Formats: sequence, C-alpha cells, structure tokens
Amino acid sequence: MVKKKRLNKGQQRRVNTNQQKRLDQTEVEWHNDQLGPAEGGRIISRYGQHADVLGADGITRRCHIRRNISSLVCGDRVQWRQATNSQDGMQGVIEAVHERETLLSRPDFYDGLKPVAANIDQIFVVSSVLPAFSTQIIDRYLVACEDIGIEPTIVLNKVDLIEQLSVEEQTHINAALDYYQAIGYSTVRVSSTTQQGLLPLVAQLPGRTSIVVGQSGVGKSSLVNEIMPQVNAETKQVSENSGLGQHTTTVATWYSLPDDGVLIDSPGIREFSLWHLAAEQIEQGYKDFRPFLGLCKFRDCKHKNDPGCALREAVEEQHIAAWRLDNFHRIMDSMNSKKPPRAIVRG
Ligand code: GDP
Ligand code: ZN
Repeated sequence: MVKKKRLNKGQQRRVNTNQQKRLDQTEVEWHNDQLGPAEGGRIISRYGQHADVLGADGITRRCHIRRNISSLVCGDRVQWRQATNSQDGMQGVIEAVHERETLLSRPDFYDGLKPVAANIDQIFVVSSVLPAFSTQIIDRYLVACEDIGIEPTIVLNKVDLIEQLSVEEQTHINAALDYYQAIGYSTVRVSSTTQQGLLPLVAQLPGRTSIVVGQSGVGKSSLVNEIMPQVNAETKQVSENSGLGQHTTTVATWYSLPDDGVLIDSPGIREFSLWHLAAEQIEQGYKDFRPFLGLCKFRDCKHKNDPGCALREAVEEQHIAAWRLDNFHRIMDSMNSKKPPRAIVRG
C-alpha cells in the first residue's frame, strides 16, 4: 500500500498558491481597436490577475492585469485602457505601473516580504488604554515605519477608560506620549466610543494617504468606522456585486475621503514584525539614538555594559529615555529566536 505523503504547512501553502495561479490564468484579451487611449489611474484593490482601477473620471472599473506587470498593489499609480466591450466582467486592461514612492509590505512567515500597499505617507500606530498601553509594542511599530520611510502618528485610543487606571499608570502613559512628541512624533489621544479627540486626528488626514495599524483589540476597526462610516457598506456592496465573495475584507482597499485624503484599510497589514531587519536598521529606527550612533568606543558595541557606550552615556545624561534603550534591547533579544525559515534579511 502506498502511503500518502503528508505535506508540511509550507508545502501545502505552495500547492494552494500554484492552484490559485492556474485559476487566475484565464486570459481576457481585446484587440487593439477595442481599447481606448492610455489613461492614468489608481489601484483601489488587487485580486489575483485583476484589479479595481479608479479612473480620472472618478469611476472604478475592474481591469485585467497584463502579464508583463510583475508587481501591483493597492495604491499603485497605473496606466490603463478602457475596453469598448467588457469581457467576463472586465472593463479594461492595466498596462504599466508608475514608480512607487513608498511600499508597505507584509512579512509572510514562509514567502518573505509581500507587498500590500504603495504610496502611503502616514501610518497611524494605534495603542490603547486597555488592552494595556505598551511602549515596547509602539517602539516596534516605530522601527518598522522608520525602516520604510513612512511617517507614523501615535494614537492612544480609549481615553474614556483612562480614569480606570491608577495615577501611576496614567502618569506613565502621559510621560511616554510626551517623550514621543518631544522626539518628533505626532501624538493624538482619542476615543472612538465618545468621539473625544477625533477632530485633531481627522485634521491629519487631508492631502495624505494613511493606513491604520496596531495590536488586535486596540480599536482600529472602531476608528476606521468612525472616520469612514461608508466603509462597511461599500465593502459589503463590492463583494456582492463582484460575486467574488469576501475578497474585499482581506485585501488592502483605497478609500478616498471627502477632504482630499485617502485611508487605506487593510486588515492584512495591521500587525508588523521586524525579523527581516538587521541590527543597524533597528538602531536607526530609534530616531532619538541617531545623534549618538557611531560614537561608541567599540564598533561592535552592543550598548549593554560595554565601556565607552555613547547610548548609555546619553541615557545617563537624560538625552535618551532609559525605557527606550531597554525596549531596544528587548527587540534585539527577540530577533534571533523568532526568525522564520526563509527570512529575507536586507543589508
Ligand atoms: P481592533 O481589533 O483593533 O480592530 O479593535 P476593535 O475596533 O474591534 O475594538 C475592540 C474592542 O474595543 C471592541 O469591543 C470595541 O467596542 C472597543 N473599543 C474600541 N474603541 C473604544 C473606545 O474608544 N473606548 C472604549 N471604551 N472601547 C472601545
Ligand atoms: Zn554603545
């Protein structure tokens, strides 16, 4: 009897991916004279071999993606052509992608970094009063934002619950937020329940392309719903119209805001990890460390008990908060133990 070989998780995922690729390869083709002139557009969402493109006329159309396009994600600026007749629900074809200004990727444990959204310029790092506020988690997000060069805004949500904390805990949170503000990060205190503080947050949206990230339970969905009550309704409608099921709930989606801003909603990128970063990138991700980097006595200084450590001295002289250096060490300690099998390490 031949025993059926069991696939491990990585193999199973590759089999599934290949099957999806085959399904996606049903080509839609138009003759040149069935296509209009090349136009500029924006990718709203991408699904396999097709994507929703927002045209200059403000209308979104589902388009086929030419095979020569190797990477296409939500937020990409593209060149596309509208078809005179739609085929299989496709209303045009995407022919080229403009260069990206920024790219947010999702670290996939097996496949390395996967692009999720392009051309974002603001990340709302959401934390909350409960579940417990943690500078360690915030620092991890800040390092990731610094690495991709996208400006973070730190959001403390659920401020309506602050009175439930002890005076010490409240003081700790306020001191941490003040420190982040002092080193150059924008911080806002909000409650999606009472709507307290939402105006200053909303004031940061116009003219920018933003995304919300943070640990589970801090209130990201609640915030997105407060900022864009239309999202729930639209998401549902796109799924129903396209007959493509619940795709839209998992892929990144571009939402134009009334005041000329954009919020990308992407449940898939709400958590970050840092295993793809090298030690130097983590150091650089601490922007308050930067003036002191390279000044330690030893080039391979670990900034622990090494003699002549410039970071330790900066902490003693109160240029750097002690908890920031502690958090840095905790990240460094966790790096080696959490590496996946095929991590991409960028140098
Ligand atoms: P997500 O996992 O980050 O998307 O968090 P959710 O938006 O699902 O919210 C998690 C829980 O926190 C839910 O029970 C919300 O009702 C609650 N919540 C969200 N925002 C607030 C807030 O500002 N104040 C209070 N008290 N609860 C909130
Ligand atoms: Zn040092």
